Amino acid sequence: FASKLPDVGTSIFTVMSQLAAECGAINLAQGFPDYDPPQVLTQALARHAQTSGHHQYAPMPGLPRLREQISQKTAQLYGILPPSPDTDITITSGATEALYAVLAAVVRPGDEVLVLEPAYDLYGPAIRLQGGVPVYVSLLLPDFRPDWERVAAALTPRTRLMLVNTPHNPSGAVLTDADWQQLAALLADTPTLLLSDEVYEHMTFDGQAHRSALQYPALAERSFVLSSFGKTYHATGWKVGYCIAPALLTAELRRVHQFLTFSVSTPTQHALADVLADAAHYEALPDFYQQKRDLFVELMAPTRFELLQTQGAYFQLARYDAIAPGEDDVSFARRLTREAGVAVVPVSAFYHDGTDHGLVRFCFAKQPETLTAAAKRLHAW
Ligand code: PMP
Ligand code: GLN
Repeated sequence: FASKLPDVGTSIFTVMSQLAAECGAINLAQGFPDYDPPQVLTQALARHAQTSGHHQYAPMPGLPRLREQISQKTAQLYGILPPSPDTDITITSGATEALYAVLAAVVRPGDEVLVLEPAYDLYGPAIRLQGGVPVYVSLLLPDFRPDWERVAAALTPRTRLMLVNTPHNPSGAVLTDADWQQLAALLADTPTLLLSDEVYEHMTFDGQAHRSALQYPALAERSFVLSSFGKTYHATGWKVGYCIAPALLTAELRRVHQFLTFSVSTPTQHALADVLADAAHYEALPDFYQQKRDLFVELMAPTRFELLQTQGAYFQLARYDAIAPGEDDVSFARRLTREAGVAVVPVSAFYHDGTDHGLVRFCFAKQPETLTAAAKRLHAW
């Protein structure tokens, strides 16, 4: 059988989680919290699960009351006019489905799609399944900043779409106002659309605010902006996210969404609609995650790992050169999982060609006890 993705194996997140389970390792590899969603949310879900009439298909674009809440939240948070719940907001099965549906909706065979690397592992294969051609531009180490001159050089009249991700997985880098201005200038007068993956929008540190593509009118008019309730509510298993885009783009997205999943789980949407108006939860997230980052950095100080700067998301990159000079990152990540009992992700998995910078990624979305136990193992190893 001729595979459509012959070079694609099992996702690194699944591979490392399996290995962690086999070895009894603490799993700091796959990105997910080891704590539960806020009780108001789980209680709301329990309530809606026991409500007659909340068990059949939700409307294709999402529950109107959830879209209304998202509209109000987005307007307040980003100081913009509210996106229309009717024409601009679509609830999806996680940001994953939104990513796939956007790509399927706009990428034609032969279209180029610009991707900044390292990049989340689904971007490349999902582009190629549409017959698109991913064009990769490397972010600059050690800060994982975009080099806008290189981006400009990679843009062609065939560039149908560009993907950005801020805060960035795996590096935690954050796009600044100046970055967005540069990007807006670059895309002006081009036919290139933008897919802005902002699933970690509520996790930025050191007083730096997340800036959204929605805040730049010249970008917002050509952008699909994605978020994920999985990240915002410590509920990655709920698989609910959304896409905000102008009416014309949303209409194209929905053409695909209606045939991909049609609609998203009804009781979970009701539960999220109940809690979203309370800003206190997500306003506390930057501090909540900064404390975890700071704790992890402190706990790791006595180890021989060299930590890079993390400005956002819930990941910490580390060089292991002082421990295993020259060892490739996949081999090191596996060995660390087996021998030290702490699972991590090799950063080469985020490069289409396996570029290896000698870096591994730790997820610090964990309880203090978990981070303490992991650091202890790493120190003792
Ligand atoms: N984009 C990025 C950058 C991510 O890290 C993730 C989460 N793994 C996703 C998209 C997918 O989000 P979801 O879990 O809501 O499908
Ligand atoms: N986004 C998560 C990560 O980066 C993993 C999600 C998944 O396993 N598909 O670790």
